Amino acid sequence: MTTVVERLTGGNPVFSVEFFPPRDAADELVLWRAIRELEALDPAFVSITYGAGGSSRDRTIRTTGRVVQETTLVPMAHLTAVEHSVAELRNVIGWYAAVGVRNILAVRGDPPGDPNGDWVRHPEGLTYAEELVRLCRELGDFCVGVAAFPYGHPRSADLDTDTRYLVAKLRAGADFAIAQLFFRPDDFLRMRDRVAAAGCDTVLLPGLMPLTTPRTLAKTVELSGAPVPPEVARRLEPHLDDAASFRKAGIDLVTETGERLLAEGVPGLHFYTFNRSKATREVVGRLGLVPARA
Ligand code: FAD
Repeated sequence: MTTVVERLTGGNPVFSVEFFPPRDAADELVLWRAIRELEALDPAFVSITYGAGGSSRDRTIRTTGRVVQETTLVPMAHLTAVEHSVAELRNVIGWYAAVGVRNILAVRGDPPGDPNGDWVRHPEGLTYAEELVRLCRELGDFCVGVAAFPYGHPRSADLDTDTRYLVAKLRAGADFAIAQLFFRPDDFLRMRDRVAAAGCDTVLLPGLMPLTTPRTLAKTVELSGAPVPPEVARRLEPHLDDAASFRKAGIDLVTETGERLLAEGVPGLHFYTFNRSKATREVVGRLGLVPARA
């Protein structure tokens, strides 16, 4: 089974996509339609997020296993340390290996209930993603990714501290990092410069979300932790009352962001799809990231 890092270092720029596990049968149909539509465009890999509770976690394992068995895609399963003992984490990693998953995104996760609440470590669990990276490494020949935050993680005191811990996590055995949402190409590139200045050359992948609706814009503010920059507001706000023209302006903006990042040498673009494929297909088509045979 191919690894994510092999797909990212193959020479040509690529794109990848992220899904969350479906909650019910209707969700599952929507997800699988998106998977099939994107499979035809040969994404470098597809990642499946890891939820906060038991049943959603089973769905991550099941969905990732189905991707292995029923598609030609390279899957990556996310894993968090939330409310897990090390023994449970070992089990989940073992299940991933058993269904044929070789790529894991090791993230700490947020406290259940209130994501901004105090982080409480499971009495027999882990405190930081860095430890989860080491655990994955210890248990098998996995290709391991981590999360990176262009504006710094919300719990970090400042960007220097954030960079120090990001680099420590990368040096603990991560093969690559995927960035949280951001607004401007320079926001990502400055993070890449900070990591490079610390002497670390691990692959960093920007994370993008097609800005198709005012809701996706609000989601970007929420997840990135940054307000909408004035130049982005100037492009999108005139379209707030017209769904079609907002979508067009948003897709144009994300396409331009992708263009600049590719010109700056990123190996690929990772798309947060929310289990839909249309906007991502449009952007990757415009960026020429789709192989000719597709
Ligand atoms: P860590 O790297 O552990 O960092 C957490 C905080 O601790 C940071 O402020 C960091 O600077 C600090 N820190 C790190 N190491 C140390 C140390 N040794 N000493 C002191 N401080 C330290 N969440 C989910 O629940 N499921 C998912 O599937 C999921 N997927 C994600 C995918 C991506 C690409 C991204 C960007 C995020 C994802 N998240 C997911 C959210 C993520 O779990 C949260 O953002 C979480 O708060 C941080 O996770 P982390 O792995 O970056 O944590």
